[in-house]
Formats: sequence, structure tokens, C-alpha cells
Amino acid sequence: MTIAKKLAREELVDMVPYQSARRLYAGGSEFSSKIWLNANEASGTGSYQVSSDCINRYPDFQPDNLINAYSDYTGLNNKNILATRGADEGIELLIRTFCKAYQDSILICPPTYGMYAISAENHGADIIKVPLIAETSQLDLTALKAQVGKVKVVFLCSPGNPTGNLLTESLIKSALDMFGDSAIVVVDEAYIEFSPENTAIKWLEQYPQLVVLRTLSKAFALAGLRCGFTLANADIIEMLRKVIAPYPIAAPVAEIASSALTSQGLKQVSNRVQETNLLREQLSTWLKEQAWCHKVYPSDANFVLFKTVNTETKAFIFSCLEQQGILIRDQSKQLQLADCLRISIGSERELSILKQTIATAINNKLKEEK
Ligand SMILES: *Cc1c(COP(=O)(O)O)cnc(C)c1O
Repeated sequence: MTIAKKLAREELVDMVPYQSARRLYAGGSEFSSKIWLNANEASGTGSYQVSSDCINRYPDFQPDNLINAYSDYTGLNNKNILATRGADEGIELLIRTFCKAYQDSILICPPTYGMYAISAENHGADIIKVPLIAETSQLDLTALKAQVGKVKVVFLCSPGNPTGNLLTESLIKSALDMFGDSAIVVVDEAYIEFSPENTAIKWLEQYPQLVVLRTLSKAFALAGLRCGFTLANADIIEMLRKVIAPYPIAAPVAEIASSALTSQGLKQVSNRVQETNLLREQLSTWLKEQAWCHKVYPSDANFVLFKTVNTETKAFIFSCLEQQGILIRDQSKQLQLADCLRISIGSERELSILKQTIATAINNKLKEEK
């Protein structure tokens, strides 16, 4: 037995870490030769200049420039904003702050984002699952109600990953009402810029238990920067500040993130969102026309989830793309998502190569079968 295995917390020895799109295809030297449509990143970004002034000093705990810029963007006060290393760090902080290890539980609504469960497992928090209603991918209020009082943190994802749709405002509000002051209710808005009018931040004053997660990794095209935000009432932010590392935001990160939040940066985001939403609708329409496609999930985000007609077809589509260096995400192991694949909205060129590649492979297969 290795020393690590001998001495580690027992439950970590067999734990499977998050299979991020990047880990699945490690060795990033292939950036340029492959088409990456598996992590919901943006396909292109601006370029940023960083000054190296004062890099000998520790950065501010929460850099003023950055918090002011996000405050201007959201209309919230600085005291309602915590900058984190991606939204993922926000997830982890919430669990570490509100769940006593080996005692408290979180609630998730699968199929959903994998990091809620991974962070909970890492911390020793239990995971209660209340699946989405399969036909609509909406919250199952009756089933949620049965868990009130049994959980400390509830994770809702809107728009959902990997499903793609927004949760309805009335369902989110009902969940907030139902859990009352018994649990923190988190709305993960990693993709909200693709339908900004549906944000839950307008309810922060009304609901002291509400927390909203945001990120610069998706619509802002800055996944490599690792910058996200936790938005909540001041007393929740204050508590999270006790748990977060002392210098979570590196100075160059704050600088780049601040410039992405200037009016010029925000204009680029809204252009990117418009283009992405258009390409998404085109891809969805195309998918619906394909005989091998059984269902296309409605999406309010920068990706499309679809179900193929059977498992063999799912594997065929995935591998014909992979062979051509086009990477999409297999979601078929998730609850309710047998035979499902997810495509991130890349550039127009990337998506047209993807469609061509599938069309050619399907045609060749039909010919062979004749
Ligand atoms: C991508 C994603 C995140 C994580 O974002 P980072 O800021 O890159 O850590 C969180 N939640 C959901 C639903 C996501 O899809």
C-alpha cells in the first residue's frame, strides 16, 4: 500500500475525481488540431494585456476594481458579491460553510452539473437526489417538499447543465418558499448571459436564503482565467469570507476580469451571446431533421443536448466525430439521459465541420449496409 493510501481519509481512496472535459483529453498541446465542443467554452476570445506592476505584493483579498466592476454589471452592492476561483470554488465554499462533515446533506436535482456531488463527497456531506421531471426537465416540487428540513444546501441549475433549459421562475420561487430558513437555496447561473432577463438576482432582497452563482468561463469566454462570483445577502457573503483562501484572486486575474467587465467587454459578450443563440437554434433545427436523432432538448444556453435513437447510434456519432478530432460530451451515464450527447456551440465553421462529418459518416454507413 502506498503511503498516500495508508494515511489518506479512507473514503478518498476509491473516490473518482470529476471527469472534466479537459481531464478526459489531457495533453492540451492538441488545442489547435482538435475541435473542442465538449466543455461549453466559447470558441474564441479577446486578447488581454497584463501589467506586472506590484506583482511582488500579495493581491487584495477581494480586489476593489473587480468587485466594483461586477457591482456595476449586476446592480448589486459590493457587500453582496464574493469573487472566487470560478463558480466551482463557490460551490465548494457553500458546502464547507453550511454542511457539517459526516452529518449534513446537500440536495441536487439530476441530471445536473457534476461538481455539486463531487464537492459534497470530498467534504463528507451526504447527497440527496430529487430528479428533475423527465419530460420537462423542471423541478419536482412534490418530491422536493419531502426533503424540507433534511438538507442544508439545495443546488438548482438554471439554465441547467447538461439539460439546457431555464427553470421556471414560479418553480424557483416555490422552492425558495418551501425551504424557507431551513436551507440555502443556490441558483447556479453559469449560463444566464444567454438569457439575462431570467436571472434570480432580482429576488435577493426578498429571499435571504438565496445564493446565485456566476462565472466568466462561459459567455465571457474566459474559462482559462478561473474567475466566478457568488452573489447573496451580506450575512451569507460574510460567512463565506471566513472560509475562502486569503488571496483567492491573483492580481493578473483581477486585471483581466475587470477589463472584460468594461462597457467594451460587455459589448463583446452581448455580440457573442447573439451569435451563439443563433447558431444554437440552427444546430437544434438541423438535429431535429436527422433520422438518427430521437429528441432535441430545448436550450437557453451555449450547448444542445440531444438523444439518439439507440445506444449503438450514440456510440457511432460520438466516435465518428472523435476520429476526426471533434470532441463532444457523452452524457449517457447521467440519470434519465441514456443515449444522449451534448454539443457546445463553437464557431460557425466548427459546427459546419461537425455536421459535415456526421452526414458523411452516416451516408457511408448506409451505403455499406446496402
Ligand atoms: C461550467 C460550470 C460551472 C463552473 O464554472 P467555473 O467558473 O469555470 O468554475 C458551474 N456550474 C455550471 C452549471 C457549469 O456548467
